[in-house]
Amino acid sequence: MYEVSTELTYYVGKIKGGCVDMKVINIEAETGAGVRLKKGQVIRVIDIEGKQVADLVAINADDSTECLDPGATIDALHSKDIQQGEPLYSNRYQPMLTVMKDMVGKHDLLLPACRPEMYEILYDKREHANCFDNLNKALVSFNIQPLQQHRPFNIFMNTIVDNEGRVCVVEPLSSSGDYIELKAEMDLIVAVSACPTYESACNGYECTGIRLEVLG
Ligand SMILES: [Zn+2]
Repeated sequence: MYEVSTELTYYVGKIKGGCVDMKVINIEAETGAGVRLKKGQVIRVIDIEGKQVADLVAINADDSTECLDPGATIDALHSKDIQQGEPLYSNRYQPMLTVMKDMVGKHDLLLPACRPEMYEILYDKREHANCFDNLNKALVSFNIQPLQQHRPFNIFMNTIVDNEGRVCVVEPLSSSGDYIELKAEMDLIVAVSACPTYESACNGYECTGIRLEVLG
């Protein structure tokens, strides 16, 4: 299991004898963080304890009107499921992030980020931590205005669609230390939220942290 630092961000620096320059961000349970990626850099999203969903959004660092678009990705891939080697597309159908390595193979492109209204309607709870606010807070720190809705790539989210079209979110298949690696195909601002839903199987009924590593 990875150790969680109390510091949000720190640099590991150059690994002796190698050329890996790695930035590490530990996202505590129910919170979010953002990072700037240069084209060609790889972000590794790690499920620290297992069964934890990470909502990821990406925005073109040079043009905030271009963003990761799960609907366009489903359209371009002809599938609701993304495979290793395939890209996530922007609203302009440009590759934004390519899946380089995937230890889990089950993620979600269908559902929006959880938001305060969702917790009110589905769980009758007010002022619940949520991915919508976590992502907006992370983006604001990069001078990106809050969005009205977030449609992320929901990493490790295990959404099942049955033959009748019913949609059900069940426990993630990810175990402690499992990760996915995504390569930036353009300069990007990326925000990630460790989903705060503990009321359902979405995060295995317990919210834990997510670790980001930026390579390159
Ligand atoms: Zn969420």
